[in-house]
Amino acid sequence: MLQNSDKFIIKGKDLLELQDWCSKKGHPKFRAQQLFEWMYFHGESNPKLMSNLSQSLINDLQADCVLQTLEIEKVSSSENEATNKYLFRTADNHFIETVSMVEVNRHTVCISSQIGCSVDCDFCATATMGIIRNLNTGEIVDQLNYIREKVETSITNIVFMGMGEPFLNYERVLKSADIFHNPKGFGLGAHRITISTAGILPKIKKFYEEDRKYKLAISLNASNDETRSEIMPVNNKWPISELVAIGRSHAHRNRKVMFEYVLLAGVNDSLDNAHELSSLLRGVDCKLNIIPYNETDGKYRRPDNDAIESFLAILSARQKGYRVMVRWSKGQDIDAGCGQLAVKQEPHE
Ligand code: SF4
Repeated sequence: MLQNSDKFIIKGKDLLELQDWCSKKGHPKFRAQQLFEWMYFHGESNPKLMSNLSQSLINDLQADCVLQTLEIEKVSSSENEATNKYLFRTADNHFIETVSMVEVNRHTVCISSQIGCSVDCDFCATATMGIIRNLNTGEIVDQLNYIREKVETSITNIVFMGMGEPFLNYERVLKSADIFHNPKGFGLGAHRITISTAGILPKIKKFYEEDRKYKLAISLNASNDETRSEIMPVNNKWPISELVAIGRSHAHRNRKVMFEYVLLAGVNDSLDNAHELSSLLRGVDCKLNIIPYNETDGKYRRPDNDAIESFLAILSARQKGYRVMVRWSKGQDIDAGCGQLAVKQEPHE
């Protein structure tokens, strides 16, 4: 079992931080690159198996550093699809969930960025946990490390849509995305990494100012502020108009934002809502991802198929610049669909 210790958590450190650590310990700088490749490209967490490192570096890693931040507690497999949900235990005895979805040659991993979440979206199972803490970069990276080792199909896409609001853990999420993107890390193209936010506007601006290449998804989930504020209190701070405006202003090539819209029966799925949404996005060069709600134990329901079709017909018929897609979430039978992740069990003693 992992021990909560005050050792240095070296897993999740980037190259500069590794170089810094190596110099402080008296190891040559080039060792940092070797260590980086062992931890991320090879996914190795046992220093003794890092065959080209010096013995003194191996000794320091063993004595002073944490190289594995998570251990697996449980795997739930969907009966209908090649979807698995992984429950991980952290060293301080909390739990997070990660979902792996394989479809032919596409393997998407949905990653958590926090333990719980403070954003309090009314329809989301994670919100019921409240926020416990941010994940450190090593814990974000180790979710992917584990799944890469266990699932035969190569990972093709990563979405930060698991537990937590990624932009409330901005630096660590972006650092882990950089490790996933690094050719000597996980080697995933920037366009294969999507960060999904409930609309934390200052961090969206920062993301653009820093010229980050990853894909950005903003959860809209309503066509007007009144409904959005009811289901997403974050809207009281950063309303729909500001989110659409920033999407519009960054809609140039390769930077198209994706707006996500979870369809909730009787809440945001009326024909009026569809017309309103269509008007809102008219002329915005973006993608619109409609996600029929995955029912949990809560009060919200998925619209029936007729309602979904009618909603889509209006958006598609009036399509003006934006592209509409529907995402039918995978793994609903194991509560692995969008908005269904929440750890129900109590940590063991
Ligand atoms: S939908 Fe995302 S941001 Fe909203 S409460 Fe759930 S995890 Fe947090």
